[in-house]
This record gives sequence, C-alpha cells and structure tokens, in this order.
Amino acid sequence: MRVVLVVGARPNFIKAAPILRAMGRQPDRFTPCLVHTGQHYDREMAGVFFEDLALPQPDVELGIGQGRPAEQIARIMLGLDQVVTSWQPDWMLVVGDVNSTLGAALVAAKGDVPLAHVEAGLRSFDRRMPEETNRIVIDQLADLLLTPSPDAHENLRREGIPEGRIIEVGNVMIDTLRTALIEDPAHPGGETRPAGRRADRAGRYGVVTLHRAANVDDPTRLTSLLGALGELARKLPLFFPIHPRTAARLDAAGLALPAGIESLPPLGYRDFLGLWSQATLVLTDSGGLQEETTALGVPCLTLRETTERPITVECGSNQLVGTDPDRILAAAGQILESELPRPSPRHFQVPPRLPLWDGHASERILSALLNRSPRQRG
Ligand code: UDP
Repeated sequence: MRVVLVVGARPNFIKAAPILRAMGRQPDRFTPCLVHTGQHYDREMAGVFFEDLALPQPDVELGIGQGRPAEQIARIMLGLDQVVTSWQPDWMLVVGDVNSTLGAALVAAKGDVPLAHVEAGLRSFDRRMPEETNRIVIDQLADLLLTPSPDAHENLRREGIPEGRIIEVGNVMIDTLRTALIEDPAHPGGETRPAGRRADRAGRYGVVTLHRAANVDDPTRLTSLLGALGELARKLPLFFPIHPRTAARLDAAGLALPAGIESLPPLGYRDFLGLWSQATLVLTDSGGLQEETTALGVPCLTLRETTERPITVECGSNQLVGTDPDRILAAAGQILESELPRPSPRHFQVPPRLPLWDGHASERILSALLNRSPRQRG
C-alpha cells in the first residue's frame, strides 16, 4: 500500500513519527512517501524533531516557508499535486489541523486520492480559531476519519459524516510519549540537557507555552496574560519556551517577560518532555500539551476560552481557565496549595475512560488503512 504522509509543522512531526515507525515494522505492506511541506523549517521547530523522534529524512521537501495562510496553502497544493500525480498513492494520510493538513486534504480531494485524517473530529466550536476551519473542511473531505476519543467520534456523527467512515483509533501523540518514556524512563529529558539542568536546580517550577493567534496576536491580551504569569512567577519560577510566532509578537509590541519567567528557545521533544513532565504546573494554549499532561497526570491550566480537547478536562488533569488573570491565578494558587514541595514521580497512565490512549494508536491506524477499501468517488 502506497501512502503519502504529509507533515509540515511541529505537532505534525510528533504525530507522524509513531505511524512511520509502525509502517517500518510492516515493510511488505506499506511503502510510505514522507512529504515535508516546510511550513516549519528551522532547526528548533522542525530539524530537532527529526532527530529526537528518529524520523526518516523526508522523501519530498516542498520548502514552502513562511507566508500568509492562503499563500502557504497554495504552495503546498502546487507541490503536493505533483507528488500525487507522479506517485499515485493508495492513500493520502494527514495528521492534525495545520495549513499543511488542509492543503494536502484539498489536493487529495481534487486528485481523487483517498484521504485519511488522523485526529479527526476535534472541535473547539470557535470558528475564529484558524485551526477550527481547517478541521471542519478536512473532515468533510476525508474518506477515513480516525478519531482520538469518543467525543470526536460524536462530533463527526452530529455533522452527518457516515458512521462507516469513522474509526476511533486513539491518540498518536500518546504513542510518541510512551515510546520516549520507555526508551528513557529515568530521564526523559536526558541528564545533559540544558533545560533539564536548570529545572533541577529550581526545584518546584511551572512551564508556560503560548502561541495561539487569539492569545499572542492582540497586544492587550498578551500583556494581560504576561501580567498574570508575572504575578504567578513571584511564587513559582516559570520556564517559557517561546514559539517563534510569540517571539515576533513580543518583539513587535515591545513587551518583555516579567521577572521570574525564564525565556527559553523552543525546545526539542525530549528536552521539553524532561521539563514539563517534572513541572508542578503547566500553563498553556497548546492542543497537544493538554493531552500529554493528561497522560502523565501533570496539572495543566489551559489559557483559552474553548478547547477542542474537552476530554482532557473530563478525564484528565486539565482545567480550562480562560484568559482572565484573576481566574488563572486562583486556579494556579489552588494547585500550589495542594502540591507537595517537590512533585512526586509521574508515570505514564492510560486514563480509565480513554483506553485507546495506550500508545498503540498507530497500529490501529495501519489496520484501518488496510481494512477499509477507499470510498469510490462519485
Ligand atoms: N513542544 C515541544 N517543544 C516546545 C513546545 C512544545 O516539543 O518548546 C511539543 C509539545 O510537547 C507537544 C507539541 O510540541 O508534543 C505541541 O505542539 P504545539 O503546541 O506547537 O501545537 P498544538 O498542539 O497546539 O497544535
């Protein structure tokens, strides 16, 4: 089975890695063609993940780089269309909700290539979020919708997607997490990693990530969030690996991080795992981190009004606290009061209500690709 697997941005690499690994274990059944669109292209946001996650070199690099969404999607479509025409895949496999995912989905639809979407069905129900419109369009185009959790499955049913196209496979993000922990259980971040060393000296600490447009593009919102984080940092040192988008917005608005918040470059997967997995508290607007903290039981405050991962609030250690400083500080204060001076060791756990977050989603994805004969397009 010839499968074009498209990646472009940081979370895509993390989701694609276990699928490629699983394909590598069945070389007689799967011939993957890994296409990297180049939406994220530098070492910190892309290169380090290929090393950390043992991703193979891409078969095709489109090198689309930065640009406005329409430009990026157009360049992805032009490049991928050629790949599809020459390679004639049995499936186009896409992960997540970034512009590369949307561009690939459109190419599959136009080129009559069966499309499988990993992480289908997530909805924040906020169409102002650029990823939300991507999710809706991709899922409408997909022939096979591979969902991470029952709520995603339900969202698709409600949107009228035929039941026969939906399969709950679990969460590939958790496959990657489990593999990293098994490979290096004692020191997931590695003993010599700089962030790990700094974190050890600090004892208790929190980790912050922010990059959603709604939080960082508006200087007023960003200033207000930094104010809350600065207040919290008086009680708890914070480490903040800064996404390039956020760095650019801080720069443009002339904003500096308050005292007590240590700015870090975006970290590689293992460095970052070493940092957040031992944190007292994570404050984030990331999608994936809400899931990862759920798997290790790390308290997580999501600084957004909505989440496409409500399951992590229902079944995990995530709280959706919004962006009001008082609310953020109240929730953080409660966690700090209930925490031991040093966080107890945390272990990978399959949430009881999410049995498919067991680290084996990729195998189920491959079975689905093999077993579902693609829809005949009308
Ligand atoms: N991540 C990382 N280094 C960082 C920040 C995040 O490796 O400095 C990882 C994080 O653990 C998760 C993924 O990147 O696996 C989430 O990506 P991101 O927050 O960029 O995207 P989202 O999940 O919000 O789509």
